[in-house]
Amino acid sequence: MSFVITYSPAYTVVPTYECFNRCRYCNFRDEPGTRPWLTLAQAQQILKSLLDRGVIEILILSGEVHPQSSQRPAWFERIYQLCELALSMGFLPHTNVGPLLYEEMAQLKQVNVSMGLMLEQLTPKLLQTVHRHAPSKVPQLRLQQLEWAGELQIPLTTGLLLGIGEQESDWRETLEAIATVHQSWGHIQEVILQPHSPGQQQSWEGEAFNLHQLPQVVAIARSLLPAEITLQIPPNLVTHPEILIECITAGARDLGGISPHDEVNPDYPHPDAQTLANLLQPQGWELKKRLPVYPQYISGLPAKLKTVVENLQVATQSTSLVR
Ligand code: SF4
Repeated sequence: MSFVITYSPAYTVVPTYECFNRCRYCNFRDEPGTRPWLTLAQAQQILKSLLDRGVIEILILSGEVHPQSSQRPAWFERIYQLCELALSMGFLPHTNVGPLLYEEMAQLKQVNVSMGLMLEQLTPKLLQTVHRHAPSKVPQLRLQQLEWAGELQIPLTTGLLLGIGEQESDWRETLEAIATVHQSWGHIQEVILQPHSPGQQQSWEGEAFNLHQLPQVVAIARSLLPAEITLQIPPNLVTHPEILIECITAGARDLGGISPHDEVNPDYPHPDAQTLANLLQPQGWELKKRLPVYPQYISGLPAKLKTVVENLQVATQSTSLVR
C-alpha cells in the first residue's frame, strides 16, 4: 500500500547538559557546574550556520535545573530567549527540557509551535532501579505535565522509552494513560516508541531493547491510541532496515527529527533523509518533510507563531528532501 512517511528536518540546540537527575541509562548529562551554558551569541552563530540548509525545527533540549534551585530562573530565561532567537531567524522551536512549572509552560507556549516530554513508562517500579536518583521521572509528575499541556492547548509530543526494566504489560498501561489524557484535551500529536540503545556514557548495564519486538509494540500502540496520534520511530536506533519496514507496516508513520547529531543517543548517528527515502521507495512509501507542529494544530497557535509557520509551510512542499 502506498502512503507518506514524514520526518522533521531539525537541529538540536542544547542550553546545558547539566542535570540534577541521574537516570542510569543517560548518555547526555554533565555534572552541574562542569561546563558553561550555551550563550545566546554562541547560539546565534549556530543558527546562522543553519540558514539555507533546509532546517525547519530547532529542538531545544536541555538537562534540568532543580525547580527550587536559585539558578532555575536563569535557566528558564535562557531557554525562552533561545526560542525567541530561533523564531526571529525563521525557525520553529520545539522545547523538551523536562517537567516545567505551570507558569513556565504557559510562557513557553508563546514561543513554541509544539513541545515534548517523554512519559517513558508509568510503572513506579523503575523508581527503585534506573530512576532511583531521578526525581523528575516520578510517573505521576510526568502525567501531570501531559495534563497541563492539554489545559494550555499546547501540541505535544510524548512517548515511551522501551527496555529500561519494565514488563510488556506496562506498555499498555502507559499507552492507555496517553490515550486517556488525549481524550480530555486532544493535544497529543505524536507518540515516539524509543528503544533503549546502550551508549558509552551510561552507568546502567542493561541490554538494548530487543528490536525484533518493536513492530509488536507499534501494533499495540496503534490499537490503543486514537488514529489521529502519529506513531514515530527513531530510524537511527532501529539499526535493521527490515525492522524499520516492519514497524511502518505495523502503523508507524513518522521518523522524527533528522539532524546531524542525536544528542540523546550520541553513539547512533542519524541516517540522512535521502538514505531513508531510498529504503522506503521500493515499498511504494514516500518520505516527506513535515513541520514540528501537525497541521490540525496550526490554527490554534499564537498569531506571531502562525506567521513563521505559514512561511515555512512552503518549504515543506518543496520536492527536494535535503538541500
Ligand atoms: S535522561 Fe534526561 S533527566 Fe535523566 S539524567 Fe539524562 S538529561 Fe537528566
